[in-house]
Parts: sequence; C-alpha cells; structure tokens
Amino acid sequence: MYGWKKNIRQVTPYVPGEQPREGNIIKLNTNENPYPPSGKVLEAIKGVDGEQMRKYPDPDALSLAKALAGYHGVSSSNVFVGVGSDDVIGMSFLTFFNGGEKVLFPDITYSFYDVWAGLFKVPYMTPELDGDLRICCSDYINVKNGGIIFPNPNAPTGLDMDMRDMEEIIKSNPSSVVIVDEAYVDFGGVSMIPLTKKYDNLLITRTYSKSRSMAGMRIGYAIGDKELIDTLKAVKNSYNSYTLSSVAIKAAIASLEDDEYFKKCVKKITDTRERSKTELKKLGFSFPDSKANFIFAKHEKVPAGEIFQRLKENKILVRYFDREKINGHLRITVGTDEEMDSLFSCLGRIL
Ligand code: PMP
Repeated sequence: MYGWKKNIRQVTPYVPGEQPREGNIIKLNTNENPYPPSGKVLEAIKGVDGEQMRKYPDPDALSLAKALAGYHGVSSSNVFVGVGSDDVIGMSFLTFFNGGEKVLFPDITYSFYDVWAGLFKVPYMTPELDGDLRICCSDYINVKNGGIIFPNPNAPTGLDMDMRDMEEIIKSNPSSVVIVDEAYVDFGGVSMIPLTKKYDNLLITRTYSKSRSMAGMRIGYAIGDKELIDTLKAVKNSYNSYTLSSVAIKAAIASLEDDEYFKKCVKKITDTRERSKTELKKLGFSFPDSKANFIFAKHEKVPAGEIFQRLKENKILVRYFDREKINGHLRITVGTDEEMDSLFSCLGRIL
C-alpha cells in the first residue's frame, strides 16, 4: 500500500498571507493596494465579448508586450508576461538557475525564493542582511554563484539598495543572470530597467498586484535582453503556452493608458506611508525607512506576536512571520488614511 508515495515530489510550500472569507476586516497583511484600479480597466473588461472568450488568447500577449515596451522605453522583444510576478519569477528560476552553482539571495527576503529553489532543486546560499537590515553588496561580488535574485526595495524590510551597488553586482557577475524583483519599486525605489540595455545578464520583474491595484487579475512581467526573454518564452512554452487570459491582457493595457490615475494612487499611498511612520513612532515602534507600500515595524516593549493577535481580535490583519530573526516585527501594509487611523487607535488601546 502507498507504494506510490516514494515517487512524490517533496516540497515545503510558500504560505501566503491570509485572505479572510468574512467581510468587515481591515486588511493590511498582503500588500494589496487599498484603492481600486482605474475606471478604464473596468470599462475594458466589460468590452470583452463572447467571440474573444471563445478563442484562446495570444500566447505571447503581444498587444500587452507592445504596450509595456512603449511604457518603459524598450522593445516588445524585451518583454515577457506571466500570471503575476510569481509566475514570471518561478519560470525564471526554472530557466536561468539551472547550473550546479549556488544561487544567491538574502536571508531575509521574499519567502517564495527558497520555495522555488526547493521545487526546482536549485542549490542556494543566503547571505545575511547587515545590522541595519540592508543587503550587503560585497556578499554578491567575487562569490561563485549560479545566479542572483533580490527584490528592490527588499521585502519585508522595504529598504532600497544604492543604484551603484546594484550595478556593481550586475557588472561583476557576467556569467550569472541577475534578477531584480521590482514588485514595490513604484512606491519610491529607482528602477533598473534602463540598465537592461547595457547588461545582457539583467532581468527585471514587475507586477500589477501592488501599485496597479490588480492583484486579483494576476499579471506580471519581466524586462531584459532579447535572448533572456526568448529563453524564458521557450521554457514557458514547454510548460503552459496560454498563461494570460484575454481579459487580463485587455485590463493590463487599459491600466497603462491611465497614467494620471496610477500616479495619483501611488502618491496617495506614499503620503499615507510617511504619515504612518510618524504615528507609529509615537506609539513606540521603530522600523527601517520603507520605500514600499508596507512598514516593517518592531515595538520597543510589546512582542510582535502578541500585537498581531490582539489586532486580529479587533478585525485588523497585519502580517507576522513566526521565523527566526524577523519574529520581532510586524509587516503592516499601507491602507487608506481611514484604515490607518483605525489601526493607530486600536494600537493605542492595545499598547
Ligand atoms: N515579489 C515580491 C517581493 C512580493 O512581495 C510579491 C508579492 N507576494 C511578489 C513578487 C509576487 O507578486 P504577484 O505574484 O502578485 O505579482
């Protein structure tokens, strides 16, 4: 009995933040955008007809690749699209981290990286962040490796990296693909997309889930040298040709067409973030100077796990990682001003 069990792929899956099924909850736990996408996105979705649904979508989503290329000043042959950046990054692990050497990523970072490494049997090494929770550039230079990936700004710290340091890492690793995960860059980081024209080993990944308010549509993309993109496409087309739906493609293009709304939304969130920093300081929290849409906060006196529980009892969800090194912190997504005010008054009562 159960002889088949020996053939099973053993994995430890990624655990995403809770998506509560009941309503009436202030949800500050998965870095979603508190505002809806542009009205133009909703209009575009309504415009999808039965004829379009009947047919398979364009496997390359060329209309979207062209729109993204125009938006970022690259060519459509430099763009790869996928079902959220998780799909794009997972596909990139499978495509680019295929040598025997260890792949490098920080010990405190997006907790999906080690899961993909496990799934695809990619050996890896995780250099520690420094005492200020920053990525140490020197850990990624003159170190033999089979690839490098880090988010900029990093998650869950929210800290961005110096541009010169990033370029140094890319330049000194010409035999490795260096992936910069720019999931949060629109909230205050500096994008490395222009450097993809200078370095053929640089791949940037992006998402519609945060700054573009479309986590539920699952849209992500990568930008890089044509050869990197072509190899990504070849691997994707060896697994699942039709990734983005016709609806997602339409919605994604429409979002790019309303840049004014997009910028206004991002500005509202960064303004609220800065105000939140002042309020959290008053409540006795300290945190790195986040450039993302979340704040990684530690209280001077009260344990993070306790605050997390008490907030949850009060129908406010934040993210708590019960993991060595970061179990003293809470990752708080920046919500609307009203949501943050409810959080601050609840924290005031709890503390
Ligand atoms: N990268 C980082 C650093 C993230 O925090 C997330 C969100 N969980 C992602 C990538 C993936 O986002 P999505 O798949 O929604 O594009």
